[in-house]
Amino acid sequence: MILIKKPETLRTFLQSCSNLSAPVGFVPTMGALHEGHAKLIRLSKGNSALTVVSIFVNPTQFNDPSDFNKYPSSIEEDILLLANCGTDILFLPSVSEIYSGGTNSLEKYPLGYLETILEGKYRPGHFQGVCQVMHRLLQIVDPHKLFMGQKDYQQCLVIAKLIELMKIKSELIVVPTLREADGLALSSRNRRLNKDERNRAATISAALYHIAAGYKKSVVQVKHEAINMLEEKKFRVDYVEVADAATLEIQQEKTNRPQVALIAAFLGEVRLIDNLLLPG
Ligand code: AMP
Repeated sequence: MILIKKPETLRTFLQSCSNLSAPVGFVPTMGALHEGHAKLIRLSKGNSALTVVSIFVNPTQFNDPSDFNKYPSSIEEDILLLANCGTDILFLPSVSEIYSGGTNSLEKYPLGYLETILEGKYRPGHFQGVCQVMHRLLQIVDPHKLFMGQKDYQQCLVIAKLIELMKIKSELIVVPTLREADGLALSSRNRRLNKDERNRAATISAALYHIAAGYKKSVVQVKHEAINMLEEKKFRVDYVEVADAATLEIQQEKTNRPQVALIAAFLGEVRLIDNLLLPG
């Protein structure tokens, strides 16, 4: 595995490999890596000649400074995991290299409705920050294939929109969520849960499965029951919603189009999100 810190060095290196017969795959991350990240990397390895993984905790996507300051970091363990997965290049840029002009007066992306709902509503500015970093990373790596997790469902739709808006040539591949045995979606933030919180955390996926089992009868009813399940286990709920899977328009009943159930809730100080595509 090669470690590269400077965008220019990575660009030059990738250009020197441009005669590769198979594509370059890219997995952007914020570190504190786990098996969910490893799943994306292995998929990239299986579908690309060269896999680039970035670790960059992007300051512009944190609307809450304490969330940014407390974001877990474990670079030594991350490097071991990356090497074990066969990562070819670890890209580890600094904030000043990604935001060479500073983090004020940044470009605004016309994301429209997508950034006004769900995560966009509860984390104002979050998706602008995600686009600012992803646009830069995609310009540097210029991958054929970009691997992202369905765990961050709305983020995948935002990146699909960014790719369309900026006429980026990369193909977005959305990878299903890896879960613990009790259903909890793997997440870097799980490390911040204490033992008792960790025991209650799988209520989020249980609530999603509850919605999947009952939404055909009444979306409103199962949403209400899902909120009760979470509140009984002392979650502070930001949202429990059912939305159109393609547009994320919020829905109060089952439709003929694919739908997705999405939850965001706090357990203590830790905010967890998860989602589930609903069977048609
Ligand atoms: P993060 O480091 O949290 O920004 O995540 C980096 C990438 O890994 C994103 O595309 C996430 O959606 C994806 N990811 C995070 N958790 C999981 C998981 N449990 N299963 C699959 N992909 C995941």
